[in-house]
Amino acid sequence: MIFYKTGEEIERIKKSSLLVGKTLAEVAKIIKPGVTTLDLDKVAEEFIRDNKAIPGFLGYGGFPNTLCTSVNSAVVHGIPNEKPLFDGDIVSVDCGVLMDEFYGDSAYTFEVGEVSNEIKKLLRITKESLDLAVEQTRSGNRIGDISFAVQNHAESNGYGVVRELVGHGLGRSLHEKPEVPNYGKKGRGHKMKPGLVLAIEPMINLGKKEITQLDDGWTILTKDNLPSAHFEHDVAISRDGSPEVLSSFEEIEKVLNNKGKK
Ligand code: MG
Ligand code: MG
Repeated sequence: MIFYKTGEEIERIKKSSLLVGKTLAEVAKIIKPGVTTLDLDKVAEEFIRDNKAIPGFLGYGGFPNTLCTSVNSAVVHGIPNEKPLFDGDIVSVDCGVLMDEFYGDSAYTFEVGEVSNEIKKLLRITKESLDLAVEQTRSGNRIGDISFAVQNHAESNGYGVVRELVGHGLGRSLHEKPEVPNYGKKGRGHKMKPGLVLAIEPMINLGKKEITQLDDGWTILTKDNLPSAHFEHDVAISRDGSPEVLSSFEEIEKVLNNKGKK
């Protein structure tokens, strides 16, 4: 069953989503070669709790941390650890919070030090595919319109689109109906209307689309071991039928700008 949200509920999801963006901005401040993903996790957990919210992923299905930190060939669901990040790495940081009974869920892939132009392009195209997907998130369109937008942009640039993991509805639960695949056909799937809130999250591989899972039971890796990028926004369909992005990368990109990284 799909839960359509009232304007008041959407405001609450927005507050949670914006807190995720601010948390990711705190993470952005400290990302550099030598820092560990566990360092990032500690900063995020403390910041979320200081803001009187609850880390949304910690304990979710048994997940052990606040952040999912997925480095290079890790697609999503990486567990923070003591290994330092290296110059030229990328790290996808996914974060959820629960505040005032509603979840926010957003992700950003960061560059560590200086990354290759090939990887910079992967990040740019993945983010663009998210923007194109948001543009399709409107009343009267179908989920397949979102899916097609992501797949078309990623594949026309030669990238692999992960099939097994999908975006989702968002609200009082972290994962609600409907599923939002990153591949599909225009005009197919559930027809969208005002009050729908979706977490849209392209997972795009530099190489082939196939994935595998690490024996930690969580981390998803590309099968060909090439890097993967992940960006996620929470998007509501407003009363007039247009998309409203509830999460924000603004704080994150302000930090990256100041670091000369944007
Ligand atoms: Mg997420
Ligand atoms: Mg999500």
